[in-house]
This record gives sequence, structure tokens and C-alpha cells, in this order.
Amino acid sequence: MSIRNIRTLGDEELRKNAKPVKEMTERTANLIEDMLDTMYLAGGVGLAAPQVGILKRIVVIDIGEGPVVLINPQIIETDGEQTGMEGCLSLPGKRAVVTRPNHVVVKALDKNMEAFTLEGEELMARAICHECDHLDGIMYVDKMEGELMDVPENEDEE
Ligand code: ZN
Repeated sequence: MSIRNIRTLGDEELRKNAKPVKEMTERTANLIEDMLDTMYLAGGVGLAAPQVGILKRIVVIDIGEGPVVLINPQIIETDGEQTGMEGCLSLPGKRAVVTRPNHVVVKALDKNMEAFTLEGEELMARAICHECDHLDGIMYVDKMEGELMDVPENEDEE
């Protein structure tokens, strides 16, 4: 396992468009493992490849229900609305209020490059939207309502 360096806001790579993954290579498989390790070590619920400086359309998410890997994800349906606090491993110690759909359906490829569809509600829907945004160079600060806030020290980051 290796832990990758997480880029923080201001890093150019975070603002670029990531490219679709065409085939699963050993290199890409290793990247996915490293992304999961890096996300768990940092205590996040999601991580997108551009956050570790790799411009590929890969996202990993774990909201406490086990790891999910989304390759070339496309959100195909959104429903409802939720307004709440959002954080990002690229802005450590910060959070802000962001409104997202409450329900999303995403189409993606898994680690074996097999297509699948995933539905997410609430935190999962928020995580999918947030991580997919990273693939298009979008950060939550672009969508936040009000100011960035500091996460109190006795609270875990999202
Ligand atoms: Zn993020």
C-alpha cells in the first residue's frame, strides 16, 4: 500500500478536466488501491483521482458501508434537495453549506471495467455529486452558500 499526497485548494490539477479510463492496467489498479488507503488514512468519505494529482475519471467513496469504486461515472438521474455541511480532503479543517440533490443515480464501471448503476440517498448522494464534480475541476467552494467555516477540533471531518 502506498499513501498518495492529497492536493489542496490552489493546486492546478484540482481545476482540470480528468480523462476517461479506457482500460484497466496494473498502474490504474494500484492507483485505486492507493486512493482507498489514502482516503481511509485521511478519514474522508470520498476521494477523486485529481485530488492525488492523477487526471483520470476515478472516484472512491466509503460512507461507512464499504468501499465503492466508480470509474468514468456519469450521474444519470437526480431528485430532491438536501442542504447541509460539506467538507473535502483538499480543504482540511474546513467545511461549508452546500445544497445537493437528495437522491442520485450514477452509471459507472467497476474495477473490472464492468458497467453498473448505483443509487445513493442523503450522504451517499452528496458524496457522489461532490466526487464527480472533482472530475470536472469543480470544488465545493464553487457551490457553497455563505462562508467557509472551520471544523471544530472535537468533531470529525466529513
Ligand atoms: Zn473533495
